[in-house]
Amino acid sequence: MSDPDVTLLLRSTRVVTPEGIRPASVAVAGGVIDAVLPYDADTPGGARREDFGDDVLLPGLVDTHVHVNDPGRTEWEGFHTATRAAAAGGITTLLDMPLNSLPPTTTVEHLRIKQRVAAPKAHVDTGFWGGAIPANTKDLRPLYEAGVFGFKCFLSPSGVEEFPELNQEQLARAMAEITGFGGLLIVHAEDPGHLADAPQRGGPAYADFLASRPRDAENTAIAGLIAHARRLNARVHVLHLSSGDALPLIAAAKREGVRVTVESCPHFLTLTAEEVPDGATEFKCCPPIREAANQDALWAGLADGTIDCIVSDHSPCTTDLKTPDFASAWGGISSLQLGLPAVWTEARRRGHGLDDVARWMSAAPAALAGLSRKGAIEAGRDADFAVLAPEAAFTVDPAGLFHRNQVTAYAGRTLHGVVRSTWLRGVRIAADGVLAEPAGRLLERNDRS
Ligand SMILES: [Zn+2]
Repeated sequence: MSDPDVTLLLRSTRVVTPEGIRPASVAVAGGVIDAVLPYDADTPGGARREDFGDDVLLPGLVDTHVHVNDPGRTEWEGFHTATRAAAAGGITTLLDMPLNSLPPTTTVEHLRIKQRVAAPKAHVDTGFWGGAIPANTKDLRPLYEAGVFGFKCFLSPSGVEEFPELNQEQLARAMAEITGFGGLLIVHAEDPGHLADAPQRGGPAYADFLASRPRDAENTAIAGLIAHARRLNARVHVLHLSSGDALPLIAAAKREGVRVTVESCPHFLTLTAEEVPDGATEFKCCPPIREAANQDALWAGLADGTIDCIVSDHSPCTTDLKTPDFASAWGGISSLQLGLPAVWTEARRRGHGLDDVARWMSAAPAALAGLSRKGAIEAGRDADFAVLAPEAAFTVDPAGLFHRNQVTAYAGRTLHGVVRSTWLRGVRIAADGVLAEPAGRLLERNDRS
């Protein structure tokens, strides 16, 4: 029943398919999933069989929120190190954010520069978001036609001067322009007025930092975004949701038919404000990690579908920028290689299965970006997989991470879920922490890949 071109048959007692977790054999032909067969299917003549036993075969993860910073701030990260970390962590597709690299991805010329830098270094399939800044409205359509997956903007200062935020009028203009060609706007939603009004004490106390980035800043920005999206029938996506208070208004907007989707991140779902030591700015990100009760609300939002996906927001920097002062330290958490075990550890504790994790970390982000060949183990999709030993545990040793800088909020934590191997279009690209040569492709929106 399977195709004579099948070259590989991957077998596991636990294959995560869109219909659930079951024993199966997955036939691969030409880098694509040919068929999901019964567990005891015969290996076609000439094909190789890999038997993973009870290790779980997941669809390769799709991380649509990664700051690679290359070129320009390559001492922070880079395509070589970021995509190696991704491969080691079970991620087979990543989308790079338009800022923190120099140049930022705000024109077609800048996109081409980034693609040229990324092409020889990519260990996983790699695509790009464009940026929407005040001065580049005329560049948005050409960027979209050149292959970016959508556009990121900020409503409050981004942290780098070459990527200014949009005010409400500029936001509406960018949203109207992007909606005109059917694009997607993804938004860092914190309201600058609420941030300006919040106490800015600075210093090493996490409580002071948390007070400086209040939930109301997120709630207000998201409410405004929804209002614009409703009026313009725009498609918008809320990046890195931290405030659980915003969930009811997002759920109501979705019920009403407003085209809004939402992501949250491993750190908001697994770390809490209560446990952040003072001065520990490896935990600093914006919006911030909030209280345990807020985290419960986020998990409820995942469970009921208000939150669509979980992506890393991997935003690294050099060690010296993580000064012990929360006001001046660089904001960003490194987790690219650790997102899957971090989320799985907490998901299993809360009674969720790996089918849920695969939906949040592979299918939903692929759908967000329109990556129709990614995100599921089913015939016709790319043969991208992560093989996970879900019951195995390990303690995070920063020295074992492929990130360029080993600063991470997860240092010393014990996590469940060891990624045994990662497969990209039918080729094993990582096995037990050993990486193959770069085999990633550059993805463009137009190639429907
Ligand atoms: Zn980010």
